[in-house]
Amino acid sequence: MDGILVNDIKSFKTAAKSAKPGDRIILKNGVWENAELELVAEGEEENPIVLTVEEKGKVFLEGQSNLRIAGKHIVVEGLVFRNGHTPTGEVISFKKSKKQLCNNCRVTECVIDDYNPTERFDTDYWVGIYGKNNRFDHNYLVGKRNRGVTLAVRLNSEESLENHHRIDHNYFGYNPILGSNGGETLRIGTSHHSLKNSNTLVEDNYFEMCNGEHEIISNKSCQNTFRNNTFYECQGTLTMRHGNETLVENNYFFGNRKANTGGIRIINETQTVNNNYCEGLTGYRFRGALVIMNGVPNSPINRYFQVKDSKASNNIIVDSDYIQLCAGSDEERSATPVNTEMVNNVIYNTEKNDVFTVYDDVSGIDFRDNLLSPNIETPKNNGVEISSGFVKKDVKFIEKNGLKIPEGMDNMGPDLSKERPTSENTGVEWYPKRDYTIRFDIGKEIPVEPGENTILEAVKKSSSGDVLVLESGGKYHQSKAVEIPHTLTIKSLESTKPEITFERSSLFNIENGGSLKLMGLKVSGSQCDDYSGNSVVRTSRYSMINNYKFMARDCDFVDLDVNHSFNVLRVYKNTFADSIELVNCNFDNITGHVLNLDKETDDVGIYNAENVLVDNCKFNDIGGVGIMLHRGGRDESTFGPILDLTNTSFTNVGHDKRNKHKASVSIFGVQLAEMENLEFKDSKKMNLHLIVGEPVIKLKNTSFENSEGVTSNDPAVQTTNVNPKMTVNK
Ligand code: CA
Repeated sequence: MDGILVNDIKSFKTAAKSAKPGDRIILKNGVWENAELELVAEGEEENPIVLTVEEKGKVFLEGQSNLRIAGKHIVVEGLVFRNGHTPTGEVISFKKSKKQLCNNCRVTECVIDDYNPTERFDTDYWVGIYGKNNRFDHNYLVGKRNRGVTLAVRLNSEESLENHHRIDHNYFGYNPILGSNGGETLRIGTSHHSLKNSNTLVEDNYFEMCNGEHEIISNKSCQNTFRNNTFYECQGTLTMRHGNETLVENNYFFGNRKANTGGIRIINETQTVNNNYCEGLTGYRFRGALVIMNGVPNSPINRYFQVKDSKASNNIIVDSDYIQLCAGSDEERSATPVNTEMVNNVIYNTEKNDVFTVYDDVSGIDFRDNLLSPNIETPKNNGVEISSGFVKKDVKFIEKNGLKIPEGMDNMGPDLSKERPTSENTGVEWYPKRDYTIRFDIGKEIPVEPGENTILEAVKKSSSGDVLVLESGGKYHQSKAVEIPHTLTIKSLESTKPEITFERSSLFNIENGGSLKLMGLKVSGSQCDDYSGNSVVRTSRYSMINNYKFMARDCDFVDLDVNHSFNVLRVYKNTFADSIELVNCNFDNITGHVLNLDKETDDVGIYNAENVLVDNCKFNDIGGVGIMLHRGGRDESTFGPILDLTNTSFTNVGHDKRNKHKASVSIFGVQLAEMENLEFKDSKKMNLHLIVGEPVIKLKNTSFENSEGVTSNDPAVQTTNVNPKMTVNK
């Protein structure tokens, strides 16, 4: 390959310093540790300066590495960032300093893979684009876990406005739930500059499981175009958060019925949403398949502008649960949409009839020629069915390119002659596709004999996804704590549960990267050292950049009582569970808490667990809380926490004087809670505290005997057959 082959930072710097139009600087194969690459140079349109690699897929930037480019006509290709994190605020930056930006530059075929700091709330961006006329294409970005946007287009100076950047053919891979604001995959602008034109084009990209927060894309500037992108199982929406004159057309949203998958959210003026395709989206409220928001009258720059002069037409929305009109209507957001049209859309659904939710007056939306499946209820305005603009018709759908297209309506939905972005035709070809979802039970089975520390020895030999199988009725004793470094199942399927005893302050420690499933076990605390604050399972005491899962099924947790404050699960600040599930478990004779998820106390919308599921469990003689789930603050960027609590009894729960929650079950700021078939006996109160947004809290078929009953701060809790009735203390 022609060019200047460089084999260390020193020779790279020398080559970069003297780079002339037409030069190719080639990084030698191998691992480049702590390599801060800076290329400030001026190429020519026909003779760009190229930074490339000896062989694609064989050059790795690790440790504290990054790239900064500035000047013009520079092309960068083939870099892979992994095993580390950027020492600065960005991994790839299209600037050297505030004054030295990039124009007419291109970054192509680069990879950023799981390149994160250890602290989940240390903020950085992976890519920051500044200047004008830059292109970012065919890159693969996967596994952004800490706070901060994956790719940001920055408009913070005159030189970066009307930029005409092109962001295309990129593969935005798995981006796990952050559990806070700041987990957007793509953001263009900020509220401060949102009335300026950006003119950025985002097309032909593939977004896969981009679940960081409820804005997959946060558009915050004017005149941007989002065209022909695919959103695959993404929790959230393409959000026109600020700025006007956005064009959103020909995009694909496939939810596959996964929770919180959404489509398009319209805010502001002169927005056009045409010919998009939505299928299998389940998201509610701000994550609906199509959401038109209410605004704030005379909105400050950072709040919600009224929807005006906007149009949604020729979109196909099939098998999706929610279309939300005037969403967010409240005392502050009282400005309903005006001079807006919803025309010629097909909304088809065989399962769900109440697809439309109308939160306020929609007379400012002109509905025309929208086609509904016969079962879908026509939306109502102020309680009256909207008389025109909707036609119910049983149309035939035909499969075309994997889409459901209404027969004979070829102007509807996306242009099928364009190639649809997939995981195959985006990103790079020469790097493996990463699957960072947490999967139990996909590895080998490892038999574990009874005895001392045999579980620990088996864990040491295990790989992620393996299953440790314990013997029926076996006695297992751990004199050392067991660190769980990856995804593991520990189980017995026999009728006589094996019994595990332990000595240390915890039995299992879920370390960063670990997840744990327990099945068919009995865990006793009777042999533990006589200290306060023991626990069966705990998370890392330090920030966990990886989310984790904890499941217990058919397990008994007994005699956790050698001293006070003995918990089943103990979580720490800056740790986050994707899910915690307790099914068919008995909790008996415990001095501390079973699930106390209250370690995020800054009240800035951060919390400890996304999904908590408790079903068919018995809580008996528990000193602390059975379940406590806390999310403070008024931020609206997250979906969770979400609680499912069913078929469960609480007997003598919550009376220990150290139980500061003074409750047996307490939820605070939870966004969605469905609780049903619960029995409380001789227990402290159930406390349901609502804070922000429109939390949906339902409590059904619940009885309290010799207990303190249920209290809430808000009558919005929906109760059915609760005895005695809930008291509301505002
Ligand atoms: Ca956000």
